[in-house]
Amino acid sequence: MDNNYLAELLFPNIKTLPEDMEARFPARNLPEGAKVTRFAPSPTGFVHFGGLFPSTVGERLAHQSGGVFILRIEDTDAKREVEGAAEGLIKTLSTYGINFDEGAILDESGKISDHGAYGPYKQSMRGEIYQTYAKQLIREGKAYPCFTTEEELEELAQVNKKEELKNTDWQAEAEARRAEMLARRNFTIEEAEEHITAGHLFVVRILADGDPEKKTKFTDLIKGNIEVPENDEDFVLLKSDGIPTYHFAHAVDDHLMGTTHVIRGEEWLPSLPKHIMLFRYLGFRLPKYMHIAQIMKLDEAGNKKKLSKRDMGANMDDYTRMGYCPEAVCEYIMTLLNSNYEEWHAQNPDKPYTDFPFNIKKMSTSGCLFDFDKLNDVSKNVISRMSAEDVTKKVTEWALEFDPAFGKVLAADPAFAEKIFAIGRGGKKPRKDLSTWADAKPYMGFFYDAFYAIEDAYPENFMKTDIKSALEKFTSTYDEADDMNVWFDKVKAIADQLGYASDMKAYKADPTAFKGSVADISMFIRVAVTGKMNAPDLYTVMQIIGKEKTLSRINAMITVLGA
Ligand code: GLU
Repeated sequence: MDNNYLAELLFPNIKTLPEDMEARFPARNLPEGAKVTRFAPSPTGFVHFGGLFPSTVGERLAHQSGGVFILRIEDTDAKREVEGAAEGLIKTLSTYGINFDEGAILDESGKISDHGAYGPYKQSMRGEIYQTYAKQLIREGKAYPCFTTEEELEELAQVNKKEELKNTDWQAEAEARRAEMLARRNFTIEEAEEHITAGHLFVVRILADGDPEKKTKFTDLIKGNIEVPENDEDFVLLKSDGIPTYHFAHAVDDHLMGTTHVIRGEEWLPSLPKHIMLFRYLGFRLPKYMHIAQIMKLDEAGNKKKLSKRDMGANMDDYTRMGYCPEAVCEYIMTLLNSNYEEWHAQNPDKPYTDFPFNIKKMSTSGCLFDFDKLNDVSKNVISRMSAEDVTKKVTEWALEFDPAFGKVLAADPAFAEKIFAIGRGGKKPRKDLSTWADAKPYMGFFYDAFYAIEDAYPENFMKTDIKSALEKFTSTYDEADDMNVWFDKVKAIADQLGYASDMKAYKADPTAFKGSVADISMFIRVAVTGKMNAPDLYTVMQIIGKEKTLSRINAMITVLGA
């Protein structure tokens, strides 16, 4: 067959050659060791927690090596595309510190525009580029057109699926598929001409020369040395609308964009034989690959399963709603990605995670386990190191959006809120009360009347008369000007008067000699003032809410406790 003639017949409008593309997108001039990585999402929905993995790795490897990090939008599947998803995706990624040097970037008006010399960065805009290479493969006899319509293909797939269900004779099935494929390869130039003249659509398929019995050795930077079978499937390169499949776009784009490391989910590992073949057919150098394991979670029965789209914690927007701060999520991701991150962090508590020397060799080859407890733990530490001003700002911002009633009271007096968040902050052992901004209200809402409720929540084992009397005594001696020691001496005096131990050592030595201890007296007062059994330092709480409110709450409790 005259392949040159066939190529012209199929692609009369494509005048460019691969060398034109090579000239248009020359090799990058980067220092030795600089890595070029890309994140290549399909704009079909939200950013999945699992998506932050490859993107964080790509970002770290590129920026740590003085390389380039690209965002490519893989919008070749128009049927699955969701409007606005790409814009949302870029914004979410940037919230999590994933910023790109090149690619589809949001401009000030919130629209996506190309930024860089290797674009367009939306695959749907790169038709001519793919078709140039497809035409070349046809010329070289490495690909061929297939005039089966999409409907026919779909029908076939349905039949195959049905067959698959009842057919256990795999060998016969494989042979049937092979025969079908060989039949497809068999056409005359006249037949092709007839189809084209009749305006029939066609897809372009690769002419596979692989033998699946043969294995190729391959080194994945995460999985290590593996063997992959050769590809023998004439898979589709270009769909009938001239849009490439993932496989073809991957080869062409990553070659022309100069990607050095392809970082992607391990679900692509089975497609590797196709990609190896494509790079060879196209004469491209194979990039390095890193296939990242799926994120797992434990189900109720304690079994590991994939973190699915519907699981809580899968959608990155959930984290915003739940009030996680992005810094904490980023740090948590680092602990999952590199086994030595926590150790490094313990030694460098004040350094940002971006200073950590990220190491491919420390990545887990099997799936990381997603775990909210661990995230909360990391998050508590991250928030405990923030300044009171910062926490106030962030809690207020979050609350204004997700808990407006609470947000409004915080925003009404930021200095007051800041005093509260300053309790136990700074110093070597800061308080760790908050894992999320949503934890703020249960922790400190009682400072505001709107979120304080008076309630007799005392444990049953204390006599109401003791509680009441402790409260009364406290109100009669309370002086806002007392320092913490004087204040506490007064509480101790109340303990002594009521037969409670003022000295904890004496109490521990013989608890039966007392009705309780000074800790219980403090608790009596705390429950009245804060409405809670546990609250930050009571002396400081009173200083912040002021004498009037302190006393009125205690008096109200005395009334509730009755005569
Ligand atoms: N669009 C592909 C995906 O979302 C990209 C995979 C890759 O990084 O090559 O899975």
